[in-house]
Amino acid sequence: MASSPPQRPAIWWKNSIFFCGTHLAAAYGVYRRPPATVPKIILVATVVLWQLASFGITVGYHRLYSHRSFNASLGIRAALALVGASAFQGSIKWWCLRHRLHHRFTDDEENDPYCAPRGLLFSHVGWIFFKPNYPKLHLIERDDLEDDPVVRWQHQYFVPIAVTFGIIFPTVLGATYGDVVAGFIYPGLVARLLIWHCTFLINSLAHWDGLQPYSDENTSRTNFLLAIFTAGEGNHNFHTFPHDYRSGPAKTDWDPSKWVILTLAKLGVAWGLRRATPGDIAAAQAYMLSHGHNYNGAHGTVVEKEEWTGPTWTEAELKAHVERNGACVVLIDGYAVDVTGYMKAHPGGVKLLRDYAVPIEAGGKCDKWKEADWAFNGGVNGHSQVARQRMKRIRVARVTMT
Ligand SMILES: [Zn+2]
Ligand SMILES: [Zn+2]
Repeated sequence: MASSPPQRPAIWWKNSIFFCGTHLAAAYGVYRRPPATVPKIILVATVVLWQLASFGITVGYHRLYSHRSFNASLGIRAALALVGASAFQGSIKWWCLRHRLHHRFTDDEENDPYCAPRGLLFSHVGWIFFKPNYPKLHLIERDDLEDDPVVRWQHQYFVPIAVTFGIIFPTVLGATYGDVVAGFIYPGLVARLLIWHCTFLINSLAHWDGLQPYSDENTSRTNFLLAIFTAGEGNHNFHTFPHDYRSGPAKTDWDPSKWVILTLAKLGVAWGLRRATPGDIAAAQAYMLSHGHNYNGAHGTVVEKEEWTGPTWTEAELKAHVERNGACVVLIDGYAVDVTGYMKAHPGGVKLLRDYAVPIEAGGKCDKWKEADWAFNGGVNGHSQVARQRMKRIRVARVTMT
């Protein structure tokens, strides 16, 4: 039977009207009250509130919640949830699920919410106007988000929190400086536009123009100018290492969000900062320098002559190894990859590895582990070139399946 053509996603009217209405109201406000007529302190407050919301997104929504690149105390998580909500980009839960989709299926037309190959306008703002059903959204882990009381609370009361911190607070601030209308227009509306478009530039421009020092497996790019406007997120080709709390490993990478996280760690309210290993970063850079001689393109694989000098196991020997050592082993490309010592560093999370690992119980009925090849080659999680090289280093045997 012929499969039905993909359905056009429904227009998200509520979002569209709010988004366009805010732009029109801000434009009209600036026309009626040009910056020259506004007290300087209110213009300064515009920049401060824009930057605060920006850190709420980059440090909170992105690095803490989407990628779990560090842990933070309840107070810090709550503060980030409040300033992040003031950016009017949806709740932490809504944002993170889509962002995880973006990383897992970058450039995929159906599953990357801000798919760059669909055009600059679509990846910047076009996607906001639609309500698509992402076929692979159910594969994205959400337990950690649903288990966090801050995330649950912020999701439930998102609209009142966003309005209070994004609109009412700036307006009251304006009133305390004797200009309530300017407070509403500048630190209220204009600051919302700044935070919107600077975040969206990461989805559009940072997937369109810039350098690729770490990977050319997707459209992500590094753009210094963007880093200035986005609290350091412009070093976007670091996409390959999303679990790293930094947006770039070099001291010269402009990354105020990293400096905020380091300060929080110094104060004892953030801990467990995760980094990509220097070896993996160097391997990615070296690969890009020597670039491409055996690379098959997006979602492809590195084709190399396999020279395996280690043991070859049967399925029974594989299971015996797992049971004897209590090891977490994933079967990929016909090799047993022992990820026991690597699980915590896995950018895709521990759960994903456990889900597709060879089960420890002898005679376990679950056959999911036989789908690991599919899962890690784009089905659930696309492995980058760096990840594939790393996997090769922790292979323990070739496996012949019966
Ligand atoms: Zn991206
Ligand atoms: Zn990310």
